[in-house]
Amino acid sequence: MSRSFVPPERMLLGPGPSDIHPRVLAAMARPTLGHLDPAFVAMMDDLKELLRGAFRTRNAMTLPLSGPGSAGMEACVVNLVELGDEVIVCENGVFGGRLRENVERAGGVAIPVRDEWGRAVDPGKVEEALAAHPKAKAVAFVHAETSTGALSDARTLCEIARRRGCLTIVDTVTSLAGVPVEVDAWGIDATYSGSQKCLSCTPGLSPASFSDRALEVVRARKRKVQSWLLDLSLLAAYWDEGHKRTYHHTAPIHPLYGLHEALVLLEEEGLEASWARHRRHHLALRAGIEAMGLSLAVPENERLPELNVVRIPEGVDDAAVRKILLEEHAIEIGAGLGALAGKVWRVGLMGHSSRAHKVYRFLGALEASLACVGARIERGVAVEEARRALSE
Ligand SMILES: *Cc1c(COP(=O)(O)O)cnc(C)c1O
Repeated sequence: MSRSFVPPERMLLGPGPSDIHPRVLAAMARPTLGHLDPAFVAMMDDLKELLRGAFRTRNAMTLPLSGPGSAGMEACVVNLVELGDEVIVCENGVFGGRLRENVERAGGVAIPVRDEWGRAVDPGKVEEALAAHPKAKAVAFVHAETSTGALSDARTLCEIARRRGCLTIVDTVTSLAGVPVEVDAWGIDATYSGSQKCLSCTPGLSPASFSDRALEVVRARKRKVQSWLLDLSLLAAYWDEGHKRTYHHTAPIHPLYGLHEALVLLEEEGLEASWARHRRHHLALRAGIEAMGLSLAVPENERLPELNVVRIPEGVDDAAVRKILLEEHAIEIGAGLGALAGKVWRVGLMGHSSRAHKVYRFLGALEASLACVGARIERGVAVEEARRALSE
């Protein structure tokens, strides 16, 4: 006979999911409503307004898509890209590569602009690509590359694209609520995020927002969107206040309760306070890491505060340390990907995981784990230095 699954206790300091606030979990356990119940519809309208606040936009079409961040990525691409459309795709990590893959699968012609993993997208290269491809329809890029810890200058990239009359598709999965995201001020046309990173909700929803300009492009399509599930014009019938709210697919009722609560928590804290908290704990972590004699891999002005990439000291067994952290300290961190595998750890301080005591616990546990495998590090100073950085 099977028994109930009771997950072990963990502190989630990887690239997502992050720790979830107890109020979000409690909200998800509330009674089920029908997805057309007037009380549920009122909650949906409230949720959309909360999302507009988080994205800093007045876009009418701002909604949580049913599916993980990858569904949001796919939704942006399949709605905006048609057969033969040229799209400049910036690729400086795993998720940029997935954007390119999505453009190609949608029948578009991806024009890759590549940058080294661990570095921001180079706006100069985007400028050159646009000059070489004047017919490009859109520029797509990842604001916060969770695979490498690099933050790109979304404001500048959008400005360059708009000057050329191009649409912008921006991945804000890890940036939303962690660092400034200004959809209207930067002129982002289509963006998607994820519920499980800095919003600290359960995985499986993709908050997204589309400008009126993007919606006009969708309306003017020659062919129907290839995905029925993600077709914005069909989704509008359920999510748009102006429509009769008719059934499209059954909304994920309970996850939406959770996202609503996560956004209420964000509003209570204040969006700018949330950005500042992510930055403060990043600086505390950095102080502790450097005090131990370790270093961060991404150049300082391109670092993502919510995803810290720590260089693994020479001769230290990557997997062994992560195993000790997980099994003995109940802490999950992320491994390096691609070219960075075995060379770095990815330490997420996202949403509810971005707390002082979690930084201290991690530094203490990392120090103990590194000592276990015989690494030569400075001991007994990391937590103190992190504390000092926080009190400054
Ligand atoms: C996590 C992540 C995604 C994918 O989100 P899923 O919810 O795993 O589908 C996309 N882009 C970035 C930058 C991410 O960090």
